[in-house]
Amino acid sequence: MIGTGILKGMAVTARNFVGSYFEKERLITVQYPEERSPLPENYRNFPILIYDTDDAEAGLRCVACKICEKECPPQCIYIVKSEDKKPDYMGKPQFYPAVFDIDISVCMSCQICVEVCPFEAIKMDKVFELSKRERFDALLQRKRELSKSNTYYHSIHPIEAAEVDSKLAEAAAKKKPAPAPPKTGPAAGAPSPGN
Ligand code: SF4
Ligand code: SF4
Repeated sequence: MIGTGILKGMAVTARNFVGSYFEKERLITVQYPEERSPLPENYRNFPILIYDTDDAEAGLRCVACKICEKECPPQCIYIVKSEDKKPDYMGKPQFYPAVFDIDISVCMSCQICVEVCPFEAIKMDKVFELSKRERFDALLQRKRELSKSNTYYHSIHPIEAAEVDSKLAEAAAKKKPAPAPPKTGPAAGAPSPGN
């Protein structure tokens, strides 16, 4: 019958309108900023740098390879590689970023930097309240502000962070030297073939 679809649609609207007075989940509008809707796992905003352990400097995963800087479409990442090396969280000497800036007035949240990073060092944050009165320098995020712990990463993207942890643990296990093979030669004190 002509108009049935419209009537069905109106019924859904009416049910949600009346129901919103009685059932919280039918009420889509929230009183921001006092109320906030939970963000989904894959929500993303601007990049952050992840560090392991409690030390933001020593534990920084970034090795200043500059791949993200080269691949960032609007070129809003600026990195200066260190002259020296520091031990990473596994004790291996690595270069590190002496400077790591991201201009979030230019960043378009495309996540390409995350996808190209071979070290799981850069991830996307969920914080969106970053507006500032000043237009330029205030929107430049420096290494200190960008550095966030792996614990924080787990709190914002728990599923993704757990996958990254197991990937890193697997890679670390592969790098471990294989156990020495058992000695197959003559036992100490046994006569050699020449004797
Ligand atoms: S999210 Fe995209 S635009 Fe922003 S820093 Fe990463 S690569 Fe550049
Ligand atoms: S964040 Fe990743 S890709 Fe970018 S410089 Fe650091 S290690 Fe390289």
